Amino acid sequence: MGAGRPAGAPVSGEGLRFFADSMLGKLARWMRTIGCDVEYERSIEDDALIDRALREDRIVLTRDTLLVMRRRLKGRSFFVESPVVAGQLRAVAERFGLDSTGFLTRCLRCNAVLERAGKEAVKERVPPYVYQTQDGFSVCPECKRVYWAGTHREGMVREIERMLKG
Ligand SMILES: [Zn+2]
Repeated sequence: MGAGRPAGAPVSGEGLRFFADSMLGKLARWMRTIGCDVEYERSIEDDALIDRALREDRIVLTRDTLLVMRRRLKGRSFFVESPVVAGQLRAVAERFGLDSTGFLTRCLRCNAVLERAGKEAVKERVPPYVYQTQDGFSVCPECKRVYWAGTHREGMVREIERMLKG
């Protein structure tokens, strides 16, 4: 997809894994947009969330003051103070040193790392205009969604930079 990053260069947040609580769906999506490994489930019991986060070595991101005080999560959670997604993303990026170098390397829907795909491989799955005008494609190995560097991309990058800078 040519995300503007040399092959093999480190992606920000690599090795860090997160679990966003049910109030942080938008944050989870924006974090995935910049390539972070973030699990998210719309409805999950606190205990199940904690079990999974500990098992998968994930840092819990939460706006729930009771959840951050849970003893099992000591040192394994981050309280997200801001009620707005831009402030949330900025706070998490500052705390964990995240930037936009991993932009569109991960599926926004299911968090899987995208795989590069040749033009022919996606021919039947993208609109003809996109097939004709784009060269770099990525595919999600799980949901099979195809990603490409469409016109919305620059807008997304600007939006992310704006959120990260505040
Ligand atoms: Zn997917």
